[in-house]
Amino acid sequence: MYDYLIVGSGLYGAVFAHEAMKKGKKVLVVEKRDHIGGNIYTEQIEGINIHKYGAHIFHTSNEEVWKYVNQFTEFNNYINAPIANYKGEIYNLPFNMNTFSKMWGIVTPEEAKNIIEKQKKEIKDEPKNLEEQAISLVGRDIYEKLIKGYTEKQWERDCTEIPAFIIKRLPVRFTYDNNYFNDRYQGIPVNGYTAIIEKMLMGADIKINTDYLVYKEELDKLAKKVIYTGPIDAYFNYSLGELAYRSISFENELLDIENYQGNAVVNYTEREVPYTRIIEHKHFEFGTQPKTVISKEYSKEWKLGDEPYYPINDSINNELYNRYRKLAEKETNVLFGGRLGEYKYYDMDKVIEAALKACEKELS
Ligand SMILES: Cc1cc2nc3c(=O)[nH]c(=O)nc-3n(C[C@H](O)[C@H](O)[C@H](O)COP(=O)(O)OP(=O)(O)OC[C@H]3O[C@@H](n4cnc5c(N)ncnc54)[C@H](O)[C@@H]3O)c2cc1C
Repeated sequence: MYDYLIVGSGLYGAVFAHEAMKKGKKVLVVEKRDHIGGNIYTEQIEGINIHKYGAHIFHTSNEEVWKYVNQFTEFNNYINAPIANYKGEIYNLPFNMNTFSKMWGIVTPEEAKNIIEKQKKEIKDEPKNLEEQAISLVGRDIYEKLIKGYTEKQWERDCTEIPAFIIKRLPVRFTYDNNYFNDRYQGIPVNGYTAIIEKMLMGADIKINTDYLVYKEELDKLAKKVIYTGPIDAYFNYSLGELAYRSISFENELLDIENYQGNAVVNYTEREVPYTRIIEHKHFEFGTQPKTVISKEYSKEWKLGDEPYYPINDSINNELYNRYRKLAEKETNVLFGGRLGEYKYYDMDKVIEAALKACEKELS
């Protein structure tokens, strides 16, 4: 008899499994995909670690989480500094003095501030939609070149059709600093993310290609308690309706050239280019291989059966989630966790934090 049946071998399930085993518990991990790791899974092609479910950059300001994850891997010194390509013009992101200098040929923060302040005044009343909201925050030039097309591709709608509240703030930096994240710690694991999960799960029994919901009855008999990290609505057979997500599709290409775009992340901010961004994986690891792998990302609407990526936490879906949550509370032998179990966008550091908190409650 296992102490815990862990459904899902993503970061949440793996942290829980590791901590449970440390306390002498016996765990069985079931995973419906043909590999462990959940969405942080990386696989090697031509010696390059490919982030199969989207680019993942580890960043945190939580020292405890940083120390925790460093038990399982060494991190390189990658700093995320994405760039935007607008009709062949290249701009640094996030919006900072390098961006403004390129856009307006200016040099000082004061010059940049004056231009932005002047352009913001175009919007005099309460912004009625995302377009007006964005212009009221950063002015028309930045909106037109760096926000409009990208956002329209993400939402598959015109910015004038998207509500203003979607964007509350648009951070601008008046320093020449291209580091995307403000966190204290940042990097990419030197041997890829899958190796972290492998280490965390060392000693656990693992069944891949096993959908818990298909074999629930038999699997439940094998363990005293279940840790479920799959979609909460699927657990209840969608009895209250489906929770909505945004999805992404990836087009991967292996190219017989050494360096395609000179940066790991390039956003394509004009609407006419159909993909939102291109990831060139080798640059996460300063790779020097003779070939390269790129992934074009397309934002797409989600339908049941697609990979759920980003939860749509609007009031309708949050309300539905809360109703599922109430059902979940009645399942005394099951603990729901992770981004799908809690219908929540969690960065990796936050998911580790949440899993450790659950362990503290459950295992002490
Ligand atoms: C496109 C994208 C980019 C991201 N980039 C970053 C980033 O740069 N930095 C960062 O910190 N975070 C990033 N994240 C967040 C990161 O992916 C999550 O924090 C992390 O993957 C959450 O882990 P999890 O275990 O909760 O979920 P998952 O990784 O989704 O794991 C859940 C697992 O459960 C399995 N499962 C589901 N149902 C069943 C079932 N019925 N039976 C068996 N198994 C089942 C799934 O196959 C999956 O393997 C990104 C997320 C996305 C979507």
